[in-house]
Amino acid sequence: MTDIPNDADARRAVPPVICYPTDSLPAADMSLYAAARTTLTSVSQVIVPPRDAAVIEVSAGQFLRIHSVQGPQVGDLNLFSADDLSEQFYSGKTRALHGTHVTAGDRLWASFPNMRPMATITHDTLDWYGIDEFGGSVHDVIGTRCDPYTGRLLTGTDYHHCCHSNLTRALAAHTGLSIHDAETHVHDVLNVFMCTGFTRDTGQYFMKASPVRPGDYIEMFAEIDFLAVLSACPGGDCSSEHSSDAAACYPLEMEVLRPADGTLDRWVPPAKNKYDRSHGA
Ligand SMILES: [Zn+2]
Repeated sequence: MTDIPNDADARRAVPPVICYPTDSLPAADMSLYAAARTTLTSVSQVIVPPRDAAVIEVSAGQFLRIHSVQGPQVGDLNLFSADDLSEQFYSGKTRALHGTHVTAGDRLWASFPNMRPMATITHDTLDWYGIDEFGGSVHDVIGTRCDPYTGRLLTGTDYHHCCHSNLTRALAAHTGLSIHDAETHVHDVLNVFMCTGFTRDTGQYFMKASPVRPGDYIEMFAEIDFLAVLSACPGGDCSSEHSSDAAACYPLEMEVLRPADGTLDRWVPPAKNKYDRSHGA
């Protein structure tokens, strides 16, 4: 280790500054969503089998619920604009704006250049969890997704039912793209129900048994038409390991619901980002 400077303590004592204060973001009209969600009726459902993925189409103005069914299970979620697969959920920017974990009131942001909210989280039955003594919390945007490449590096074996592969197969089947073309669209996820954090001493990404139980759900309002692709992670509740068939795994359910006519009259769909894209050139 290099020499510690004399003013090390003073440098460490500098207080942090929030990178992206969200006060000036376009505000989500949560009272509008709260009123609309009291009128919901179910439109469609799909069961996501364990160690596999499924797709559901959600129209702007509808709500998507992801339900825990049968047993504790985490899910890896990708969102794609229905019109353009290149507009997709941007986990990193969502994290920069809202923090390492998301809950009701937070928005799921789209990639550049549109960078508009794809969805607004409107209800989360795990919002009571908060941040635990280990620094863990639920619904993370810090993990990427379990994948066979990292598995290959770490264990030297090929496992084909990681979330990355599950999402790839489901997107290919839904769109007609080849497996290799579909794979290029799979992106960093929202880890639904997953309980994670960074260790205080080494800063390492950790997971722990998800507090989710059957009956829990997270709900989001669709700000644009999108495809939701969800993998039921081979890690199950992620209490021990993933990227294998060792963990107990359960299905998840995605459900699309629509509010009553007239409840969204005040709603303004999000505009695409207004940056002129000249980049100073
Ligand atoms: Zn996974």
